[in-house]
Amino acid sequence: MKGNWKRFFLVRGAEVAGLALLAAVPLAVTNPFALGLLTLLAIYGILLIGLDVTVGYLGQVNLGHAAFLGIGAYTAGLTVTTLGGGMPIALVLAPALCFILGGLLALPALRLEGPQFALATLSFSALATTIINEWESLTQGAQGLQVPRPPIFGVALDAPDFYWLCLALLALVWMTMRNLLASRWGRAFEALRDSPIATDAMGVGTYRHKVIAFALGSSLGGLAGGLYAFNFQYLQPQSFTYELMVILLLGVVLGGRKSLWGAFVGAAFIVLLPNLLSNRLLFQIFSAIGLTAAVFAAGRGLAKKTTQPFQALAPVVAMGLLVGGSLLVANTEDWRKAIFALMLFSVVVGLPEGIMGFAAQLLTRLFRIAPPSLPAPASLESVLPAWPATGEPLLELKHLKRHFGGVHAVDGISLTVRAGHVHGLIGPNGSGKSTAVNVISGLYAPSGGEVLLHGKALPEGSLFKVAGHGVARTFQNLQLFGELSAIDNVMVALKDVFRVPLPLILLGLADAEEQRARAAALALLDLVGLRDKARARAKDLTYGAQRFLEIARALARKPELLILDEPAAGLAHPDAAELVKIIRRVHDLGVTIILIEHHMDVVSELCDVVTVLDGGKIIAEGPPDTVKRNPKVIEAYLGAVVEEEKAA
Ligand code: ADP
Ligand code: MG
Repeated sequence: MKGNWKRFFLVRGAEVAGLALLAAVPLAVTNPFALGLLTLLAIYGILLIGLDVTVGYLGQVNLGHAAFLGIGAYTAGLTVTTLGGGMPIALVLAPALCFILGGLLALPALRLEGPQFALATLSFSALATTIINEWESLTQGAQGLQVPRPPIFGVALDAPDFYWLCLALLALVWMTMRNLLASRWGRAFEALRDSPIATDAMGVGTYRHKVIAFALGSSLGGLAGGLYAFNFQYLQPQSFTYELMVILLLGVVLGGRKSLWGAFVGAAFIVLLPNLLSNRLLFQIFSAIGLTAAVFAAGRGLAKKTTQPFQALAPVVAMGLLVGGSLLVANTEDWRKAIFALMLFSVVVGLPEGIMGFAAQLLTRLFRIAPPSLPAPASLESVLPAWPATGEPLLELKHLKRHFGGVHAVDGISLTVRAGHVHGLIGPNGSGKSTAVNVISGLYAPSGGEVLLHGKALPEGSLFKVAGHGVARTFQNLQLFGELSAIDNVMVALKDVFRVPLPLILLGLADAEEQRARAAALALLDLVGLRDKARARAKDLTYGAQRFLEIARALARKPELLILDEPAAGLAHPDAAELVKIIRRVHDLGVTIILIEHHMDVVSELCDVVTVLDGGKIIAEGPPDTVKRNPKVIEAYLGAVVEEEKAA
């Protein structure tokens, strides 16, 4: 517990101290220029925290954020000029409108990934700035919009007052976003970045979370826009174009993704950038620091063999160009776009974790900050319900079909899985095993036939909906949330634990629940032998451990029916033996299991019944020992397996 307090005081202490320091500045410094920069820092801080939600947490390239800043700014400006509203109303309307527009943009852009999503946001941004520019009767177009700064509740705000207002809002955004992103919401955002399929399969709606995350990030852009309007008191459409967008992305990446401090550092960089570019000496010093950092990072990466030579050298070359440029070029302003390009390139290649990602590692080591201590695991009985192994039909497939064009992957399968059984599904490669379970679990809709659970039709073609009916699964090709820790992977999937409503989460009142969830997740990690790996990132685990983690995560759904699609594929012998033990443990808890498996000895050892598929049809079914002797099975499948085993 001592470690927890130390961590709490250091981390929270740094936040409070930083904020207090910033708040105290106007008492000592009256220089309007410095105060202007600090005000801008607070505004850009809010803006970048919003951008980090989509870029860092959702992992999407969002090129629409500058447009949301503009929409927020014009909304706030027009609220006071045209509607005659006050500043508080303007500062509510601006984020509200951006929340709605962000949500509307995310809805169609939802199924898009990577470049397509980036293009969708880029089009939106072009559309928004064009409308602001051309709708002259409302926005005064290129001529610009004068915005007064109305008094709040009769009090006129001078420069320090307005700065404090911005700072207070930054603190509010900081606190609520910290709470949100540390909760199940933040985990869901990250999960859907790493595997949308698994996020749905774990009963966490990808759809809903992606839209909400994007709308939320955009609304922070709108809030920053509102403050921007009252700060500059003059708006022009061309302030919110593509160039600003590149700078904002540079800020987030440079500061460090998935980090509030990173957003703050990025904001500081953006605020200082114009001064940097207009002052030649400052720029030379900055480039020299950049080059030194690049050389240092390259040396470190090469020594530790974490980077390839070209990857290490590229930022050095880019920064070298910057230093050379700073000595040769008379007017750096003219070269700004090239300078941004070089900086962005260097950061993306050389410092993917950003300044704060790097600093966080350093500070953690320097102050010996231990990660938060974990609670004792809950008892397994309290986490998993006891399902009665009645032997009654649990899952029934009736003439199930799934065709892909001309390929009859599943071609009229009828079978019954009984409660409490381990039901084996075997057959040669391409016989339709994965397709069958993909249809059952909702990844694919059936082309024909029915899937019944407890005699009632399961939802079709939706992983998310099927997950709500007590069916959980693993994937033949692992679908872990790679950047999340093992325990967080399990916590994403945990069912019936999280009840604290969003407003209380934002206020930071979900600690007790989070701790209960951790205890439950640890019990499941313990079950698969990964308790001491709870904090390791999923992608850093060994292959075998990753397979086991997927089982623990599926169990967090408290499933009545667990589908394991070739859990032993690629496992070396000790892991394969461990897997058999794990499956037996899960079976003993009363969970019904569909097991797709190639090794006949594993099948014989575990399964009550085996169904053999070939060419999308059932060719045999029965107890493993009977099926093994079936001539059709030997011809279609086992002959090949025996050959394979001989060869191996
Ligand atoms: P198994 O898991 O038994 O090895 P699969 O169910 O993966 O077999 O595949 C059965 C057949 O369906 C194969 O011929 C495969 O190429 C085809 N198939 C599977 N998924 C798809 C898909 N998404 N699109 C097109 N064909 C597919
Ligand atoms: Mg398969």
